[in-house]
Amino acid sequence: MRQAIATVKKTKEIQEKYKVFTKKSFGQNFIIEPGIVEKIANAAIQSRDELVFEIGPGIGALTQFLCEKSNQVVAFEIDERLPVVLENEIGFDHLQIVLEDILKVDIDEKIREFRKPGQKVVFASNLPYYITTPIIMHILENSIHAESITVMMQKEVADRIKASPGNKTYGAISAAVQYYCEVEQVISVPKEVFVPRPKVDSAVLKLTIRKETPVDLIDEKAFFACIKAGFGQRRKTLLNSLTGTYGLSKDEIRTILEKAGIDPVRRAETLDMNEFADIANGVASAKQTI
Ligand code: SAM
Repeated sequence: MRQAIATVKKTKEIQEKYKVFTKKSFGQNFIIEPGIVEKIANAAIQSRDELVFEIGPGIGALTQFLCEKSNQVVAFEIDERLPVVLENEIGFDHLQIVLEDILKVDIDEKIREFRKPGQKVVFASNLPYYITTPIIMHILENSIHAESITVMMQKEVADRIKASPGNKTYGAISAAVQYYCEVEQVISVPKEVFVPRPKVDSAVLKLTIRKETPVDLIDEKAFFACIKAGFGQRRKTLLNSLTGTYGLSKDEIRTILEKAGIDPVRRAETLDMNEFADIANGVASAKQTI
């Protein structure tokens, strides 16, 4: 590998050479600590044969290490100033850059385009913080063929994603991500390792996509509607927050909750995945009989 990009000196040098000063509107906070990017790459990639999709390569701090560990890296970047920097500075010919907004990318189509038969697909990123949750959900909802997503995000968002029921940070994003993935924290990252320095610390999570869903559902949409409604009004009791959600009356919701053995005065933040599933399945059955 050439000299590491993830240092203060090299980052400044590249920024001045190409006039690519960070843009806040793109959530650009570049990493200036090679040890951190190496840990992200090590956690993300298990074998050289894996196809790595990176989101937001920036000037290549993490990209360099991903290219070192894998034979095929595809990096999605929104900022049109950056592909030329990456092409000149990275120096690996197995890096492909796609200049597109990741939220508009059809992920499964890109997997079909780049993947060789039998190849595993993993995601890695130091995410743009202004769209952390939309990107994670976009990947989870559209990439049934991926293995894992290893991503840096604000510590507070990581805490929410990995929270358990009953915890005050447990919310819709915890339940939704944990439905799709096993969640593990790789490292905590202090704010000092970025330029510009953000106000808060970060953490890296590895989300390993489950091969099988953790609960049996009659209708996945009813499950997500239940999570959304329950946490949309998290101060309300389940009976009140779910009433009307599925076009069902208060009495019908009460019957569903009672049949599932769930006290109607409980709140969504106390429900585990099985209980959300029991409610969703109760709703799906009730709707079938209406
Ligand atoms: N990977 C680099 C690093 O670690 O130093 C940069 C990380 S920076 C936090 C986020 C990167 O995501 C920036 O390069 C930014 O331009 C890019 N980005 C922001 N929004 C994006 C989007 N919608 N699609 C693709 N890339 C995006």
